[in-house]
Amino acid sequence: MRTPLIAANWKMHKTIDEAIELIDGLLDQLDDDSFDGREILLCPPATALLVAAEQLDGTGIALGGQNMAAAREGAFTGEISPLMLLDVGCDFVILGHSERRHVFGEEDALINKKVKLALECGLIPVFAVGEKLEQRKAGAAESTVIDQLATGLDGVSANEMADVVIAYEPVWAIGTGETASPQDAQAMHAAIRGWLAAQYGESVAEDVRILYGGSVKPNNVDELMAEPDIDGALVGGASLDAESFARIINFA
Ligand code: PEP
Repeated sequence: MRTPLIAANWKMHKTIDEAIELIDGLLDQLDDDSFDGREILLCPPATALLVAAEQLDGTGIALGGQNMAAAREGAFTGEISPLMLLDVGCDFVILGHSERRHVFGEEDALINKKVKLALECGLIPVFAVGEKLEQRKAGAAESTVIDQLATGLDGVSANEMADVVIAYEPVWAIGTGETASPQDAQAMHAAIRGWLAAQYGESVAEDVRILYGGSVKPNNVDELMAEPDIDGALVGGASLDAESFARIINFA
Protein backbone atom coordinates (compact mmCIF):
# COMPACT_ATOMS: atom_id res chain seq x y z
CA MET A 1 0.00 0.00 0.00
CA ARG A 2 1.65 3.23 -1.14
CA THR A 3 0.65 6.48 0.54
CA PRO A 4 0.69 9.29 -2.03
CA LEU A 5 3.35 11.93 -1.35
CA ILE A 6 2.91 15.52 -2.51
CA ALA A 7 6.25 17.30 -2.33
CA ALA A 8 7.13 20.97 -2.83
CA ASN A 9 10.48 22.02 -4.26
CA TRP A 10 10.76 25.76 -3.71
CA LYS A 11 14.16 25.87 -5.45
CA MET A 12 15.98 29.19 -4.86
CA HIS A 13 12.84 31.11 -3.90
CA LYS A 14 11.60 32.72 -0.67
CA THR A 15 13.38 34.71 1.99
CA ILE A 16 12.74 33.76 5.60
CA ASP A 17 9.80 36.18 5.93
CA GLU A 18 8.33 34.99 2.63
CA ALA A 19 8.74 31.36 3.69
CA ILE A 20 6.88 32.02 6.93
CA GLU A 21 4.10 33.74 4.98
CA LEU A 22 3.81 30.91 2.45
CA ILE A 23 3.65 28.22 5.14
CA ASP A 24 1.07 30.24 7.10
CA GLY A 25 -0.98 30.59 3.92
CA LEU A 26 -0.70 26.90 3.17
CA LEU A 27 -1.72 25.84 6.69
CA ASP A 28 -4.77 28.12 6.37
CA GLN A 29 -5.80 26.36 3.17
CA LEU A 30 -5.52 22.81 4.51
CA ASP A 31 -8.05 20.89 6.56
CA ASP A 32 -8.18 17.36 8.01
CA ASP A 33 -9.08 15.89 4.59
CA SER A 34 -5.84 17.30 3.18
CA PHE A 35 -3.93 14.85 5.38
CA ASP A 36 -6.26 11.91 4.78
CA GLY A 37 -4.41 9.16 2.89
CA ARG A 38 -1.58 11.41 1.75
CA GLU A 39 1.72 12.79 2.97
CA ILE A 40 2.96 16.33 2.43
CA LEU A 41 6.60 17.39 2.15
CA LEU A 42 8.10 20.88 1.87
CA CYS A 43 11.64 21.47 0.61
CA PRO A 44 12.42 25.17 1.16
CA PRO A 45 15.85 26.72 0.53
CA ALA A 46 18.46 25.98 3.20
CA THR A 47 18.20 29.42 4.81
CA ALA A 48 14.51 28.87 5.59
CA LEU A 49 14.77 25.30 6.91
CA LEU A 50 15.05 26.27 10.57
CA VAL A 51 12.00 28.53 10.65
CA ALA A 52 10.07 26.08 8.49
CA ALA A 53 10.90 23.27 10.94
CA GLU A 54 9.53 25.38 13.80
CA GLN A 55 6.38 26.27 11.89
CA LEU A 56 5.72 22.73 10.70
CA ASP A 57 6.29 21.14 14.10
CA GLY A 58 3.16 19.20 15.02
CA THR A 59 1.40 19.82 11.69
CA GLY A 60 2.18 16.41 10.13
CA ILE A 61 3.96 18.08 7.19
CA ALA A 62 7.49 16.77 6.60
CA LEU A 63 10.58 18.81 5.81
CA GLY A 64 13.31 18.09 3.29
CA GLY A 65 16.48 19.54 1.84
CA GLN A 66 16.89 20.24 -1.88
CA ASN A 67 20.38 18.76 -2.08
CA MET A 68 23.27 17.66 0.15
CA ALA A 69 27.00 17.02 0.03
CA ALA A 70 28.39 13.55 -0.53
CA ALA A 71 30.21 13.74 2.81
CA ARG A 72 29.26 13.96 6.47
CA GLU A 73 31.57 16.91 7.19
CA GLY A 74 34.78 18.50 6.04
CA ALA A 75 36.33 21.18 3.88
CA PHE A 76 33.46 21.57 1.40
CA THR A 77 32.80 25.31 1.23
CA GLY A 78 29.20 26.11 0.46
CA GLU A 79 27.89 22.59 0.95
CA ILE A 80 25.36 21.22 3.44
CA SER A 81 25.91 17.87 5.06
CA PRO A 82 23.23 15.22 5.61
CA LEU A 83 23.88 15.53 9.35
CA MET A 84 23.04 19.25 9.14
CA LEU A 85 19.79 18.47 7.32
CA LEU A 86 18.90 15.98 10.06
CA ASP A 87 19.93 18.49 12.72
CA VAL A 88 17.52 21.13 11.39
CA GLY A 89 14.64 18.63 11.26
CA CYS A 90 14.66 17.20 7.75
CA ASP A 91 13.50 13.66 7.07
CA PHE A 92 13.90 13.84 3.27
CA VAL A 93 16.38 15.16 0.72
CA ILE A 94 15.94 15.65 -3.03
CA LEU A 95 18.89 14.15 -4.92
CA GLY A 96 19.66 14.09 -8.62
CA HIS A 97 17.25 16.89 -9.51
CA SER A 98 17.61 17.85 -13.17
CA GLU A 99 18.94 21.31 -12.23
CA ARG A 100 21.68 19.65 -10.16
CA ARG A 101 22.46 17.34 -13.09
CA HIS A 102 22.26 19.81 -15.96
CA VAL A 103 23.04 23.23 -14.43
CA PHE A 104 25.62 22.12 -11.87
CA GLY A 105 27.01 19.13 -13.75
CA GLU A 106 26.31 16.46 -11.15
CA GLU A 107 26.91 13.03 -12.61
CA ASP A 108 25.31 9.70 -11.80
CA ALA A 109 28.33 8.49 -9.79
CA LEU A 110 28.21 11.52 -7.46
CA ILE A 111 24.44 11.24 -7.10
CA ASN A 112 24.89 7.55 -6.23
CA LYS A 113 27.32 8.49 -3.42
CA LYS A 114 24.78 10.97 -2.10
CA VAL A 115 21.90 8.47 -2.24
CA LYS A 116 23.89 5.89 -0.28
CA LEU A 117 25.10 8.43 2.27
CA ALA A 118 21.59 9.82 2.78
CA LEU A 119 20.33 6.30 3.51
CA GLU A 120 23.24 5.57 5.86
CA CYS A 121 22.45 8.78 7.75
CA GLY A 122 18.71 8.10 7.98
CA LEU A 123 17.45 10.60 5.39
CA ILE A 124 14.91 9.49 2.78
CA PRO A 125 16.20 10.31 -0.70
CA VAL A 126 13.73 11.68 -3.23
CA PHE A 127 15.83 10.44 -6.12
CA ALA A 128 15.02 12.28 -9.35
CA VAL A 129 15.48 10.89 -12.84
CA GLY A 130 14.31 12.04 -16.26
CA GLU A 131 15.19 12.30 -19.91
CA LYS A 132 15.91 15.39 -22.01
CA LEU A 133 13.70 16.27 -24.98
CA GLU A 134 16.24 15.08 -27.54
CA GLN A 135 16.49 11.73 -25.77
CA ARG A 136 12.69 11.35 -25.88
CA LYS A 137 12.60 12.34 -29.56
CA ALA A 138 15.30 9.76 -30.29
CA GLY A 139 13.22 7.03 -28.63
CA ALA A 140 15.72 6.80 -25.75
CA ALA A 141 13.54 8.12 -22.89
CA GLU A 142 13.16 4.78 -21.14
CA SER A 143 16.77 3.63 -21.59
CA THR A 144 18.02 7.00 -20.27
CA VAL A 145 15.88 6.75 -17.16
CA ILE A 146 16.80 3.10 -16.56
CA ASP A 147 20.51 3.97 -16.86
CA GLN A 148 20.06 6.77 -14.31
CA LEU A 149 18.31 4.34 -11.96
CA ALA A 150 20.94 1.63 -12.39
CA THR A 151 23.86 3.98 -11.68
CA GLY A 152 22.19 6.16 -9.10
CA LEU A 153 20.95 3.20 -7.05
CA ASP A 154 24.05 1.01 -7.48
CA GLY A 155 24.83 -0.65 -4.14
CA VAL A 156 21.47 0.22 -2.55
CA SER A 157 20.09 -2.93 -0.88
CA ALA A 158 16.51 -4.17 -1.18
CA ASN A 159 15.96 -3.22 2.47
CA GLU A 160 17.19 0.32 1.88
CA MET A 161 15.21 0.60 -1.35
CA ALA A 162 11.97 0.33 0.58
CA ASP A 163 12.78 3.82 1.97
CA VAL A 164 13.70 5.48 -1.31
CA VAL A 165 11.23 7.71 -3.15
CA ILE A 166 11.75 8.03 -6.91
CA ALA A 167 10.69 11.13 -8.81
CA TYR A 168 10.29 10.84 -12.57
CA GLU A 169 10.74 14.33 -13.96
CA PRO A 170 11.14 14.66 -17.73
CA VAL A 171 13.61 17.53 -18.12
CA TRP A 172 11.57 19.12 -20.91
CA ALA A 173 8.55 19.40 -18.59
CA ILE A 174 10.27 21.11 -15.63
CA GLY A 175 9.29 24.75 -15.31
CA THR A 176 8.12 24.89 -18.94
CA GLY A 177 4.36 24.50 -18.61
CA GLU A 178 4.68 21.30 -20.69
CA THR A 179 3.49 18.17 -18.91
CA ALA A 180 3.90 14.55 -19.93
CA SER A 181 0.48 13.18 -20.79
CA PRO A 182 -0.90 10.99 -18.00
CA GLN A 183 -0.50 8.01 -20.37
CA ASP A 184 3.17 8.76 -21.15
CA ALA A 185 3.91 9.40 -17.48
CA GLN A 186 2.15 6.17 -16.49
CA ALA A 187 4.12 4.23 -19.12
CA MET A 188 7.42 5.50 -17.69
CA HIS A 189 6.33 4.88 -14.09
CA ALA A 190 5.37 1.31 -15.02
CA ALA A 191 8.76 0.82 -16.69
CA ILE A 192 10.51 2.12 -13.56
CA ARG A 193 8.47 -0.22 -11.36
CA GLY A 194 9.24 -3.11 -13.72
CA TRP A 195 12.96 -2.36 -13.42
CA LEU A 196 12.65 -2.18 -9.61
CA ALA A 197 10.88 -5.55 -9.59
CA ALA A 198 13.67 -7.13 -11.63
CA GLN A 199 16.37 -5.67 -9.35
CA TYR A 200 14.76 -5.88 -5.92
CA GLY A 201 11.77 -8.21 -6.22
CA GLU A 202 8.05 -7.62 -6.70
CA SER A 203 7.22 -6.73 -3.11
CA VAL A 204 9.86 -3.99 -2.85
CA ALA A 205 8.79 -2.63 -6.25
CA GLU A 206 5.16 -2.55 -5.12
CA ASP A 207 6.11 -0.47 -2.05
CA VAL A 208 8.34 2.16 -3.68
CA ARG A 209 6.64 5.49 -4.31
CA ILE A 210 7.24 6.96 -7.75
CA LEU A 211 6.34 10.65 -7.97
CA TYR A 212 5.75 12.54 -11.20
CA GLY A 213 7.25 16.01 -11.60
CA GLY A 214 7.16 18.52 -14.43
CA SER A 215 4.68 21.41 -14.48
CA VAL A 216 2.19 19.74 -12.14
CA LYS A 217 -0.60 22.28 -11.60
CA PRO A 218 -4.07 22.35 -10.03
CA ASN A 219 -5.60 21.71 -13.46
CA ASN A 220 -3.64 18.56 -14.30
CA VAL A 221 -2.95 16.90 -10.95
CA ASP A 222 -6.18 14.90 -10.79
CA GLU A 223 -5.66 13.10 -14.09
CA LEU A 224 -2.00 12.39 -13.30
CA MET A 225 -2.84 11.03 -9.84
CA ALA A 226 -5.53 8.78 -11.35
CA GLU A 227 -2.82 6.67 -13.01
CA PRO A 228 -2.06 3.47 -11.10
CA ASP A 229 1.74 3.88 -10.89
CA ILE A 230 1.82 7.62 -10.11
CA ASP A 231 2.16 7.84 -6.35
CA GLY A 232 2.47 11.56 -5.87
CA ALA A 233 3.97 14.72 -7.30
CA LEU A 234 7.14 16.75 -6.99
CA VAL A 235 6.00 20.31 -7.58
CA GLY A 236 8.17 23.34 -8.34
CA GLY A 237 6.47 26.51 -9.58
CA ALA A 238 2.97 25.72 -8.36
CA SER A 239 4.24 25.06 -4.82
CA LEU A 240 5.21 28.72 -4.43
CA ASP A 241 1.57 29.73 -4.16
CA ALA A 242 -0.37 28.51 -1.11
CA GLU A 243 -3.69 28.18 -2.92
CA SER A 244 -2.25 26.27 -5.90
CA PHE A 245 -0.21 23.92 -3.75
CA ALA A 246 -3.15 23.27 -1.42
CA ARG A 247 -5.29 22.36 -4.44
CA ILE A 248 -2.59 19.95 -5.62
CA ILE A 249 -2.44 18.38 -2.14
CA ASN A 250 -6.21 18.03 -2.22
CA PHE A 251 -6.09 16.12 -5.53
CA ALA A 252 -9.26 14.21 -6.29
C1 PEP B 1 10.75 20.63 -10.01
O1 PEP B 1 11.42 21.60 -9.72
O2 PEP B 1 11.05 19.53 -9.54
C2 PEP B 1 9.60 20.81 -10.88
C3 PEP B 1 8.94 19.75 -11.27
O3 PEP B 1 9.28 22.11 -11.26
P1 PEP B 1 7.93 22.59 -11.98
O4 PEP B 1 6.78 22.01 -11.20
O5 PEP B 1 7.97 24.09 -11.90
O6 PEP B 1 7.97 22.06 -13.37
